[in-house]
Amino acid sequence: MLMRLGSLCLTTLVLTAASSNLAADIESGCQRADLLLHNGIIYTADAGNSEHQALVINDGRFVFVGTDELAEQLWCDAERVIDLKGATVFPGFTDSHQHLEGVGRRTKTLSLFGIDSLDKTVAAMEQWAADVPPGGWVLGRGWIEREWQGERRFLTRWDVDRFTESKPLFMPRADGVSALVNTKALNMAGITRDTPDPEGGRFERDDRGELTGYVLGQAMAPFRAILPSETDAYITDNLLRGMRSNAALGWTSTHDAGMSWRQLRLLQDLRSRGLMAHRVYVAIPIADAAPLLERGPEQSDDGWIDLRGIKVFIDGTLGSRGAALLEPYADANHRGFMNRTTKEALMPVLKQALRAGIQIMTHVIGDRALRETLDWYLEAQAAVPKSEWQQTTLRWRLEHAQVIPPSDQRRIKDMSVVLSMQPSHAIGDLNFAGDRLGQERLSYAYPWRPLIDQGISIIAGSDAPVEAGDPRIEFYAAITRARLDGSSGVGWHPEYAVDRLDALRMLTTWPAFASFQEAERGSIEVGKQADLSIFDTDFMTAHPSEILAAKTVMTIVDGRVVYQAGDITE
Ligand SMILES: [Zn+2]
Repeated sequence: MLMRLGSLCLTTLVLTAASSNLAADIESGCQRADLLLHNGIIYTADAGNSEHQALVINDGRFVFVGTDELAEQLWCDAERVIDLKGATVFPGFTDSHQHLEGVGRRTKTLSLFGIDSLDKTVAAMEQWAADVPPGGWVLGRGWIEREWQGERRFLTRWDVDRFTESKPLFMPRADGVSALVNTKALNMAGITRDTPDPEGGRFERDDRGELTGYVLGQAMAPFRAILPSETDAYITDNLLRGMRSNAALGWTSTHDAGMSWRQLRLLQDLRSRGLMAHRVYVAIPIADAAPLLERGPEQSDDGWIDLRGIKVFIDGTLGSRGAALLEPYADANHRGFMNRTTKEALMPVLKQALRAGIQIMTHVIGDRALRETLDWYLEAQAAVPKSEWQQTTLRWRLEHAQVIPPSDQRRIKDMSVVLSMQPSHAIGDLNFAGDRLGQERLSYAYPWRPLIDQGISIIAGSDAPVEAGDPRIEFYAAITRARLDGSSGVGWHPEYAVDRLDALRMLTTWPAFASFQEAERGSIEVGKQADLSIFDTDFMTAHPSEILAAKTVMTIVDGRVVYQAGDITE
């Protein structure tokens, strides 16, 4: 009831704002605009999530939101009119954690995501390798043994040597922190059974001490170092493909959780050539962050590229038992690892970030990594007088944050930390998280609902190419907390799923806030930048399985159509 009242008030406000020139317009006849969309179901995600039928865009911004009748009457001189035929319109969706170049690269290498057995995975590699010329690299990623039917084990070089004798093979596992290599690649990299493990990495060996070809962490580096050199054109093409596939799925913006300066320079080239397909908010890895701390945040004139974040890694992942836990794993006698960024390296960066107005985005998965990182955030904030902060609303983030004890939930609220979480991770991880954590800790793993109930903003992301990178899946996972087939398991805590309006906010208004853009986008309101995600299915009312089958009708960024399905009529 409260919602409804809010909605009515806001509708009135919007109409008032939009029709301030009403009398004059009716007298002078039609108003001109770039684009009029009508006959739709428009969810604005404004304060009351008011619903409308039509909207009008001029110069990249919304100039009207309201009824079909008023839209057509006031803006009858619109340059382009699109009949939405009942399609559903949302404020532009943001994927708040992605790796754009990897998303594009994925389209050019073998994807092993979703293949459900060891045999089929190996068969897919064999088929792909057959088309690679001798001496060429067999490249792909995304295999994940724990989601297979039947035999579940790490792949070895003996699985693939048979069909890759003359071709080096490098296939990262889905988590991206380990990989399969074949004998040819081991030879080329000069790795033998006598090679010691590097710090922070391991060449897996069998009982006899033979290399298996499964390599973890820093042990991937020798292979990366000999991959064919990557030209600017190759990377540019990956960025472009990544953006186009994102736009086709309905994303109008992504937050890139770790982009190299080279990738950023190539992205900026694409922008200057008018080839961007969506907005990108960029974080630079901490190792390369010095110039950013020096110069401070930068935004392109047109608001399509924002550079403001520093990406930090603290621990590993739950699946590989690398996440740092307060208490030992339920299925191993250790607490995971916290060796990716030391406190000594981090503290000066945090302090400089306060003075430069830079956002910190820290990968923490286990509760120990999370708790210590919060401590370090506080320690840095106490060490720098507030008068020296570039701004007082820091909006520092924790990326993933999968295990959050209740006391830390309260600290997150008190510290106004933004949580960047991946609904799709949860519905994959919950298949094994109970083994790793035990049932008790599951009561505060991926705890979306309790967090939101405490007033904490969660921004949703996919971590693509780790996950598919599909807004339908993220929305579905957030509202169902179930596998894509609708099933779930013991300890999944279905009560931690969120309601649909919160799911919408996780993809729209909250990411806008997390990227300091809440005044410009995140909701459909007169004056804001016109970013829209339009689908043939109403995510707010459809059965969850129908959301997964929804089709993108159109994606609009800054009033520009960046993706359009074939069957639009004008
Ligand atoms: Zn990531």
